[in-house]
Amino acid sequence: MPQYELTVEKDACDGIFACLTRDPRFVEGEDGLATIDPDADPVYDCEGTVTDTDERVVATFDDDRIDEARQAAAACPTDAIVVREVGE
Ligand code: SF4
Repeated sequence: MPQYELTVEKDACDGIFACLTRDPRFVEGEDGLATIDPDADPVYDCEGTVTDTDERVVATFDDDRIDEARQAAAACPTDAIVVREVGE
């Protein structure tokens, strides 16, 4: 199972939320832009670490849901989401 990192670049995010229809871990932050909440999925119990700064959100997960993250990245009209495997 790959460990992977999700990044949302806030400068690129337009707040239209195509991402959360593909992966419910993407949620609206207080600034109206996308952020990531491992507890937001109503079905799966996710664990992950999230760092949310003014520039970007970076979350690391170690589960089998990288495909959903990739679908969210593919749906993002501004390419604000990057998914990167960081280990096994
Ligand atoms: S789809 Fe992309 S641009 Fe739209 S809210 Fe999600 S991360 Fe931001």
